[in-house]
Amino acid sequence: MKTINVGICGLGTVGAGVVNVMQRNVAAIAARAGREVSITHIGARRDNPACDVGSAKVSRDIFAVVNDPEVDIVIELIGGYEPALELVMQAISNGKHVVTANKALIAMHGNEIFAAAEKQGVSVLFEAAVAGGIPIIKAMREGLAANSIEWLAGIINGTGNYILTEMRDKGRQFDDVLADAQQLGYAEADPTFDVEGIDAAHKLVILASLAFAMPLNFDACFTEGISAIAPQDVVFAGELGYRIKHLGIARKTDQGVEMRVHPTLIPQRRLIANVDGVMNAVLVKGDAVGPTLYYGPGAGAEPTASSVIADVVDVVRTIDAEPSNRVPALGVAQESLSALPILSMSDINTAYYLRINVNDQPGVLSHITQILSDSGISIEAVLQKEAVQQETNVKASSRQIPIVLITDRTLESQFMAAVESIEALDAVQDSIHFIRVESLG
Ligand code: NAP
Repeated sequence: MKTINVGICGLGTVGAGVVNVMQRNVAAIAARAGREVSITHIGARRDNPACDVGSAKVSRDIFAVVNDPEVDIVIELIGGYEPALELVMQAISNGKHVVTANKALIAMHGNEIFAAAEKQGVSVLFEAAVAGGIPIIKAMREGLAANSIEWLAGIINGTGNYILTEMRDKGRQFDDVLADAQQLGYAEADPTFDVEGIDAAHKLVILASLAFAMPLNFDACFTEGISAIAPQDVVFAGELGYRIKHLGIARKTDQGVEMRVHPTLIPQRRLIANVDGVMNAVLVKGDAVGPTLYYGPGAGAEPTASSVIADVVDVVRTIDAEPSNRVPALGVAQESLSALPILSMSDINTAYYLRINVNDQPGVLSHITQILSDSGISIEAVLQKEAVQQETNVKASSRQIPIVLITDRTLESQFMAAVESIEALDAVQDSIHFIRVESLG
């Protein structure tokens, strides 16, 4: 049988990982793919000392790889939107299968890429784009094929999870841990995509599309980062039996689909609450199987290469098959996707943690609970802390104390109206800090 030739575009961290793992496990990969697989052409602006490319041809122009008639599968590992999009579209139009680790590209341009690939009868696979080494795409696309997926929740950004873990374990401030994460190489010099949730949102929209068989819709995803999390919220959450995680959540409801990335309190007893440091995890609830949890490294050269190469093996296994016999990119054919309504945040239903700094005067708590009760919002837990300023010359009524509450599930629009009323109380001087709460049961 003909050897399948692979071309790699981009020889950075993941590119070198793919070269190294392919070389090390060449026999096992060939056995699993059913034939020899060889990296024959690499597009790289410079050599990478982290790998030895052996006899592969190296071109400084990455487009030479997608235009090489000998290459059967193109692996795109340059990242970003352009020229990655042009490169992938060119590969597809040249009749090549594509494997990519590029979540930004798939989240933003996946619809047009998948449509073009289906038309051309080639595969575009992207296991490494979500949660690095965890085979979550394959699990959702194939392993859970019998299920109607009800919801999923994922810790899908290792940098954010590392920062929150350090804040909890060592009582450190967000900025301080971020600076450390940058030094350790966990966070980029510009950390916006990681800490503001954009990277997690890219991954979440991919998972949501797979879960609910709908086109990718990045613009409809709500995104809130972790930079406003204060160390005291981490402590209060712990006292109430919760941990704060930066979650991507997708849920199908009768009204539409929730697609949101934000800090979330989750009960400490949940397995996913104990996923710490740079590790990733995705919890998926199917109607037949119930909750399933997928855990592992969300980044790194070889974990990511593990997913990239698994996709290559999948492509090779069915390379001679009729295109209609291959598993489509999002699990169902493009024509079977349906654009479900995505709920705005005012229409989502969740519980809330609130920290309200109030003047230490009698009756404040009862005013607050009255407002919540008038809004139809029940309270699950209350924590009233000591005054933060203990100076003897400060009048008790002007000392600030934090009142911490956890509510039951309620409509976000109703909750926001109650927050506005509480903020209007004389005794409440700061804006209220709130974090959404999910039981994930
Ligand atoms: P990287 O280390 O920055 O490597 C990217 C490589 O692509 C660099 O060697 C860069 O070359 C090259 N490149 C960029 N634009 C190019 C162009 N126009 N022409 C030629 N070469 C070009 O990035 P990475 O970490 O390997 O990530 C690659 C992809 O994998 C990204 O989509 C990323 O999101 C995804 N991913 C990464 C990880 C991870 O752990 N690193 C995990 C999951 C997914 P220069 O050095 O010359 O700029």
